[in-house]
Formats: sequence, structure tokens, C-alpha cells
Amino acid sequence: MQKIDLILLKYGEIALKGLNKPLFERKLLDNIKSRLDRIGKFSVRRAQSTVYVEPLDETADMQQALKVLKKIFGIVNICPVVKCDKDMDSIARTAIQCVNELSPSGKTFKVEAKREDKKFPLNSPQIARELGGRILTAVDGLSVDVHNPEILVNVEIRQEAYVYTSKIKGAGGMPVGTNGKSTILLSGGIDSPVAGYMISKRGVELEAVHFHSHPYTSDRAKEKVIDLAKEMAEYCGKIRLHIVPFTEIQLAIIEKCPENYLTVIMRRIMMRIAEKISVENNSAALITGESIGQVASQTMESLVCTDNAVSMPVFRPLIGMDKEEIVTISKKIETYETSILPYEDCCTIFVPKHPKTKPNLNEIIEAEKALDNIDEMIEKAINEEEILIVK
Ligand code: ATP
Ligand code: MG
Repeated sequence: MQKIDLILLKYGEIALKGLNKPLFERKLLDNIKSRLDRIGKFSVRRAQSTVYVEPLDETADMQQALKVLKKIFGIVNICPVVKCDKDMDSIARTAIQCVNELSPSGKTFKVEAKREDKKFPLNSPQIARELGGRILTAVDGLSVDVHNPEILVNVEIRQEAYVYTSKIKGAGGMPVGTNGKSTILLSGGIDSPVAGYMISKRGVELEAVHFHSHPYTSDRAKEKVIDLAKEMAEYCGKIRLHIVPFTEIQLAIIEKCPENYLTVIMRRIMMRIAEKISVENNSAALITGESIGQVASQTMESLVCTDNAVSMPVFRPLIGMDKEEIVTISKKIETYETSILPYEDCCTIFVPKHPKTKPNLNEIIEAEKALDNIDEMIEKAINEEEILIVK
């Protein structure tokens, strides 16, 4: 495997943010530093819309750094680079060595050059032409294809000269922390971790709330949600996870409300609790993993009734997605294997036999009047919450 001297990171969208650009760049740099700090000593610096990551000692494993960097929002391309002296002989020697490592025989190639240092004697097209010629002479069985090459040799002339032949796709999006904070209602299922990931990708920091119905749901179900939050945190950064005891409220709903409205009423109270937790933690919106028509509590009519319980905006990034599409993302972000572990959720332990698919809001509001001490129960549940910082 080719040694990696340094990793160049390119950011796309954030370069377009005009006066906000410094803020975005600072956040991105902070996020990269704090994630890499956990795996070793790296230098992380920025120049000309590029971030440079270099190892500072032998603890800094560049392969491991690549894995971490692939999950940081705001990065568009990740380029593992070999450094060399800033003259054409060294550059050609390095490029030829890189190409030779790719079993080049019978393959097509192209050179792309970028001269950031204008003092370098050749301009970008001249570098590409000269280097292309030298590679063609030195490596057997190669041919040039400028439109669709199998091997793309990149050269960048900056403070030093850099050569790379692979450009890894980054996680895209915007650096977490550049777009405020939202609260994800996190169950143990497939959907909610994906929903959290999608909002976080746009630069939003996450607060998470999980409702736990001990002893009807086990400690293992709680551990599972903590594991999911950890997996999400690799993308979303630090998450404060509120685990809220929900049994008492759930039993009161079962005792006092019509059976066919249990799930919708439960959802409405979950939303009210999550809204209160959000206000206390400067989070501006709620996020759920709901998608239209997935189950009875997610028909259009049910979603309207759930929404009505809170005044905060509710983001549902999966609203128009099929389960299959959600599963694809869940596998990509590596939460799927944890999500499919068997577990009980408070929504699945007391499922009404005939849930209303077209609930009537007035009937629900009327039914909720039977929960005469609900405000105190909500306060109590919040007071008894357990808070974990997951990173
Ligand atoms: P899946 O549908 O894959 O089982 P899910 O997370 O979508 O998982 P649903 O029962 O469909 O589970 O719940 C819809 C949404 O309600 C979830 O996406 C989640 O945002 C919220 N939710 C459900 N149960 C809980 C819970 N115990 N704690 C916090 N939020 C929950
Ligand atoms: Mg669901």
C-alpha cells in the first residue's frame, strides 16, 4: 500500500458562503481536530480552501485518520497524498512510483495539475503535459484517455509538491455546529438514526431524547439506543442523550384513554416532553423518523394530530422515503446492524388492535382530558431523566 505523507481535504459548499466562510472553516477545522485528537497526534491546518492533515508522531495512523475523516460533514473530497520536492524530476519520480503501484498495464491514465504557487516555472497545462509524457515513457502498457481515465494522477504545487492517485468521496454537507441545534426523538429502530444523520448533515448539532418504559422495556433496549447514538456521533459529533422514564405516563394513557387512540396520544406526549427538553437546551426544532403511511400512527391525518401537540417546528427528513431507501442509508452510515437487533420499544409493547388511521383531533383532545395530572407527570418524567454525553 502506498504510504501517505499527508491528507488534503477539499470542501465544496462551504466555500460558497461569502462572509460566513471564516465561521464555516473554523468550525470544520475544530471538528476535524477534536475527532482526530482521539486517535493520535496530528497537525491540522488550513490554506487556500484546503485542509492539511499531517501525522505529528508515530501514534498518528493515517489509514485510521482516513476512516474518521470520511464521516466528518463539510468535507467533499479526501486526497491521500505523497509529498516530494518541488522540481519536475522529483515530481515525475513520485508520480511514476504511484502509478506503478496501481498495476497500470493495459490501463488508461490522465494527469491533472494545479499550480497554486505561481513562482513554479511551468504553468498547470505545461506540468500536466510534461508529466504525462514522462509517465508514458517510463511505464509499460499505459495509454492516455483524457475523458474517462482509469488512473487519474493529480499534482498540486503548493508550498511543497503533492502527488495523489485516489480521491475519496467525503461525507458532504456542512460542518456540524454551523446551523444551530435540533432534538431527535431516538427510538431503537432503523428510521430515527437515519433522520438524525440527515439533519445533522446540514450542519445541525443534535440533542437526543429516548423514552424508556422500564420494566416493560429492558436495560438491553436502553443500551441499544446508547450504541446507536455512539454510531451516529461518528458523523454528528457529540450528542447529549436524554433517557426519559415513560412507564407511568404510558400506563396512565392505557388506563384512561380509548384503546384505538393510544399510539397517537403517546406520540403527542412524547413530542410535548421533547419540546420542553429542547427549550431547556437551546434546541430550536424536533426531528422524527416518521414517513407518510409507514404505520397507522404515520398516516397524514395522524401526523397532523401529532404535530398539533407542539408549537416547535418538527422536521421529518424521511417523510417521502420508502423503507428500502431508508435501509440503504442506514447501512451506509453503519447503524443498520444495531437497529435490527431484537428489542422492545415502548411503542411496540402496547399496540392497539385497531388503531385509528384517520384520527380526529377534537376527539383526541377530548380523550386527553382524562389525563388530569398529565402536566405533573411530564414534569416528573423530565426531572427523572438520565443524561448521557455520547461521543
Ligand atoms: P422503525 O420504524 O424502524 O421501527 P422508528 O424509529 O421509525 O423505527 P416508529 O415506531 O416508526 O419507530 O416511530 C416513529 C418515530 O417516533 C421514530 O422515528 C422516533 O422519532 C419516534 N419514537 C418512537 N419511539 C420512540 C422512543 N421510544 N423514544 C424516542 N422516540 C421515539
Ligand atoms: Mg418508523
